[in-house]
This record gives sequence, C-alpha cells and structure tokens, in this order.
Amino acid sequence: MASYRIAVMAGDGIGPEVVGEAVKVLKAVQQAVSDLNIETVNLPAGLEAYERYGSTLPDSTLETLGQCDGWFLGPVSTYAYTSGMVNPSMHLRKTYELYANIRPLTSFPGVKSLYSNVDLVIVRENTEGFYADRNVLGGNGELLINRDTVVSVRVITRQACLRSARTAFNLARRRGGLCKVTAVHKANVLKKGCGLFLEACREVAKDYPDITLEDFMVDAFAMHLVMRPRDFDVVVATNLFGDVLSDEAAGLVGGLGLAPGLNAGEVHVMAQAVHGSAPDIAGRGIANPVAEILSAQMLLDWLAGKNQDVAARTAAERIKRAVSQVLAEGKALTPDMGGTASTEAVGDAIAQAVI
Ligand code: NAD
Repeated sequence: MASYRIAVMAGDGIGPEVVGEAVKVLKAVQQAVSDLNIETVNLPAGLEAYERYGSTLPDSTLETLGQCDGWFLGPVSTYAYTSGMVNPSMHLRKTYELYANIRPLTSFPGVKSLYSNVDLVIVRENTEGFYADRNVLGGNGELLINRDTVVSVRVITRQACLRSARTAFNLARRRGGLCKVTAVHKANVLKKGCGLFLEACREVAKDYPDITLEDFMVDAFAMHLVMRPRDFDVVVATNLFGDVLSDEAAGLVGGLGLAPGLNAGEVHVMAQAVHGSAPDIAGRGIANPVAEILSAQMLLDWLAGKNQDVAARTAAERIKRAVSQVLAEGKALTPDMGGTASTEAVGDAIAQAVI
C-alpha cells in the first residue's frame, strides 16, 4: 500500500475555499484507488498564521513539512504583506530548491475560452531572476538609492538555467506531442543574463536530439502566444517572463481558475495553482477550484514518478479524467467558466466523478 502524507497550507483570500475542494477530491480518489493511502495535514501559513502565531510561516509548519511527502500551498496575498512578513511561496521555493515551476495551460471542451485545443506547458525558473525577495543572500534585490531612484537586481545563474532547461526537455519528451521546447528571453537587450539562459538551453538541447529547440524574444513571443498558441508545446523562461506569460496563456484557455501548477525540485514538491488570492471574489463561494484540483493531480503524478507508484499514477489519471468529464458536461461550472455553480458544487461534482 502506497502511503503519502500531504501538508496542506490553505493560504489567503480564496485559498481555503479552493484548496478545500482539492483536498476533497484527494480524499475521494483515495477511496476509488485500492493500494493508495493519502493523509492530509493542515498547517498554518499566511495572514491567519501571522495573526495567531506572529509569522506567515511558523517554525512548527516548517518542521512538519520535513516529515511530509508533498506539500500544497494555496495562494497568498503577498501584495498586502508588510516588510516583516515572509512570503511563504518565496521561502519554500527558494529554501527547498523547488526550482521548476511547471504550469500546464490547457483548453477544456465545455468551457468558454478564446481558443480550443491549446495544450502547452510553461516551465518557469523559480529561485532567482528579477524576484528581489529571493535573489540575494542578505537583504533584498531592490535597492532604494535615493527617494527617486530604485535599482532592481536580476540574478541569472548557469545552474538555475541548466536545470530549468532540463526540466523542459524532459517534459517535452514525456509529453510526446510537438516535441518542441521554446526558450523565451530578451537577449537583444539583456545580452549577458538572457544570453547565459539561452546558452544553457542550447547546451541541454544537445542531449535531446529528438526534441527541437526554438527561441523567441519575449515581446515577440507574447504576440505569437496570443495569435497561435497551438504551435507551442513546452515553453521555458526565466522567472518574471515565465510568470507573466503563464497568466497570459491562462487568459487564452478560460482564465486563471483553470491554470494549475507544481513547484518541483530533486527532493521536494509543492502543488500551487498559478492564480493569486483573488480578493475581489474571496468569501463568496464562487472561485473556480479546478486549478487547485489539477495541481493536486500534478502532485500525485510527480509522486508516482518519484516512487514508481502505479496507484498514485492511477489516481492522478482519474482526477484528470474526472475534471475533463465534469467540465465537458457543463452542469457544474463556476461563473468564470460561464456557469452559476458554487466552488463547493464544482468540487463535489469532480469528487463524485473520480469514484
Ligand atoms: P489574482 O490571480 O488573485 O486575480 C486575478 C483575477 O483572476 C481576479 O479577477 C480574480 O478574481 C481572478 N481569479 C483568480 N483566481 C481565480 C479562481 N480560482 N476562480 C475565479 N477567478 C479567479 O491576481 P491579483 O488580483 O493580481 O492578486 C491578488 C493577490 O494575490 C495579491 O496579494 C498578489 O500578491 C497575490 N498573488 C499570489 C500568488 C500566489 O500566491 N501564488 C500569485 C499571484 C498573485
């Protein structure tokens, strides 16, 4: 019997609403697949944790994470965090070297979207780049030179570029689709940083003769993505470009409520949807839980690969099928997908469908 202990940090805003539905689906799939045991452990993180324990990521949470096989982090309202508050997302990605942020963007029959038949994945570097809160050892990579001048430091390392590129090429091979990796950069201006990123992508490409490497400048790619998204398979980019492009791609396939994500390293893994805490709809029971449910599916799939575990693989496949089925039926859709169902009703329908 394969047994997994999954840490659940629900996060802020819509986090508890949507993560709750993902946990519901995990519990349902466990009943449906023999030889699979999933235990979930709720851990404090985010604004509520700050109020109760004085930290957005208490030590007790960090200690328990070390005893879990995988983690789940809901969205966190980082824009509202003050300087004394740790961004849990940043801390966990950086400290535990969750270097690859894997974000599939897929259109689903039954959901209104700008395009049908889009199926691409963005691999975004997660630990450096322009992200000031993670790219220097002490302090912060944004320097206030004087009241009217700020310098933002961008860090690009060969190691981080190589490992993101390798993740992208492995994914392209595993997907077996267009067998193509698209590297997105701005090497015409950021000649050294993006030049290094591109050099690393080309170096890794030599080990994958079955996969084509192409590259675009980020500004042109933003246009190509909108005009012909079906031509892309796996896209690899540095941190900020990857982040912006994933929201853009989500907009092509029905919105952020449908965009799951996984933060993966060699040892640890954390499911985390692309979207933020959506304060504009928090507490109304209308947030789309599909992104979180599919993030849970990705987590199981990753654990299946790591442990060569057929039961976890079966569970992941069941969740994927259940989501497609429920969306195609078109009865349980939240307002962002063109329906009137509640978050809970969508979660219930998918939990029913996995059994
Ligand atoms: P957002 O992703 O929270 O929301 C953007 C838009 O998408 C909003 O209109 C929102 O209602 C909608 N949306 C997002 N998720 C949805 C869902 N599941 N179902 C239906 N609609 C959904 O981005 P934002 O408004 O720019 O940021 C809000 C907060 O989230 C900020 O504090 C920001 O710092 C934080 N944030 C956190 C993460 C993260 O934790 N991974 C990512 C992005 C933003």
